[in-house]
Amino acid sequence: MSDRVDTDAQDADERELEAQLLERREAALAHVVKFGDPVLKSRASPISSFGPELRAEVERMVAIMRDGMGVGLAATQVGVLRRLLVFQAGPDGEPTALVNPEIEWLSDEEVLAEEGCLSLPGISVDVDRPLHARVRGRDAEGESIVIEASGLEARVLQHEIDHLDGVLILDRTSREQRKGALGALREGGTYSPPEVDDAGEGEFHEPRTDA
Ligand code: ZN
Repeated sequence: MSDRVDTDAQDADERELEAQLLERREAALAHVVKFGDPVLKSRASPISSFGPELRAEVERMVAIMRDGMGVGLAATQVGVLRRLLVFQAGPDGEPTALVNPEIEWLSDEEVLAEEGCLSLPGISVDVDRPLHARVRGRDAEGESIVIEASGLEARVLQHEIDHLDGVLILDRTSREQRKGALGALREGGTYSPPEVDDAGEGEFHEPRTDA
C-alpha cells in the first residue's frame, strides 16, 4: 500500500517537473523568431567588437537554447542579425559560442537525417549534410578557435551557419517535403517526413533535434 502511495507521489512529482519544463520551453520559444518573419531570410553581419555586451548576448542565447531544449541557436533566430551562434550537441556537452563562423572544410561523405528547427515549430524534414566539418571562428572573448566536428555536432553547426546566411531547412530538403512542410506551416499543423517502409532498415537515422 505504501509502495503504491510512493509511486503515485513520484508520478505526481514527475508530472509536475514535466509541466515546469514545458512551461519554461514555451517561455523560451516565445523569444525565437518564427517562420514568416523576413529576418530569417536575411544575411547576418560580422561582429567586430568583443566585450560585455556580446557576452550578455551569448548568455541570453544559451538560456533560450537550453530552456527551449534545442541543440543550437543562431542570433538570427532571436532577431539579431549578427554572426553569432551557440550550440550544445548532446546533453553532457558544454554550451559553446561561436562568432563569425566560417566553414573551412566539409567531408564528401554525406548523411541524410531528420532535422527540426526552433523557428519552425512542429516541422521536421530530411536534410542531407556532410558528416564531418571543420569550422573556424572566434569565441565570445575574441580568441580564434577551430572546431573539428562530426555527426550531430557537424550537422548543428551547418544548420546554424545556414541561419546566419538566411537559409532554412526548407531550402535544403526535397521538393515534396518542402511542399508538405509549407502546407503544414500555412495551416498551423505539423509535418514530419513520410516513413520509409521498404529500404528503411539499412538507413542511418540520427535522432531528431531542434536547432
Ligand atoms: Zn533552425
